Amino acid sequence: MSATSLIDSHCHLDSPEFDSDRDEVIQRALDAGVERMVAIGTGTGPPDLEAAIRLAERHEAFYATVGIHPHDAAKATPDNLRRLDELLEIPKVIALGEIGLDYHYDFSPRDTQKSIFIEQMRLAAAARKPIVIHTREAWDDTLALIEKYWTPSGLPGIMHCFSGGPTEARRALELGFYLSFGGIVTFPKALDVQAAAREAPRDRILVETDAPYLAPVPKRGKRNEPALMVHTARKLAELRGESFEEICGVTKNNFHRLISDI
Ligand SMILES: [Zn+2]
Ligand SMILES: [Zn+2]
Repeated sequence: MSATSLIDSHCHLDSPEFDSDRDEVIQRALDAGVERMVAIGTGTGPPDLEAAIRLAERHEAFYATVGIHPHDAAKATPDNLRRLDELLEIPKVIALGEIGLDYHYDFSPRDTQKSIFIEQMRLAAAARKPIVIHTREAWDDTLALIEKYWTPSGLPGIMHCFSGGPTEARRALELGFYLSFGGIVTFPKALDVQAAAREAPRDRILVETDAPYLAPVPKRGKRNEPALMVHTARKLAELRGESFEEICGVTKNNFHRLISDI
């Protein structure tokens, strides 16, 4: 038995990339000490809003989220939003996400991304559940909308796969967010993200995989899976001058605190 005990705060194990060996991937995660995983429910987008709930119903190790990804904002209907509101009442649904803005791909028009993001923040605030943020090349707009529509709720949130530097980290922390570090922090050229990881207060850090994407070094470029998160946690420990066990304990406590009020 290893002493490792981690929580993957963000993964997409519903993805078709795991269709052939999902149960083995889950078993490898548990064997590697990843005791809990948050299944992110954005899936293929509306009308299917329950991708993560299906996983969480089958496997005890999962928490679930529901939400409409910015990529799919143009597909969202008022009915979908009403359905999200209902699904947020399920106890294993611990947050709404991933939601936000993605100006890198612009798969949905930016105005639509913004309005669906705002609508979802309203739903989560009313349901008193945290949000999980996806932001890409859209820091200023994302933070401005959070400040206006989310911060008044007094609720926390997660900056998933944190990809900014110390400046963005400081701004997100001021808005009450946790920074979730993924495989990017292990990439040799990700100096900004590494600087943010070094400076972040220990009570606001989380770890994630975003599997099947963004596998950490030394598996970079391969399919990612929760068992590989130990590499990310080790890198965080090295950057921060803390032990691997400390990172496990701190990130686990942070996660439990984050969901403790729901
Ligand atoms: Zn994302
Ligand atoms: Zn994701």
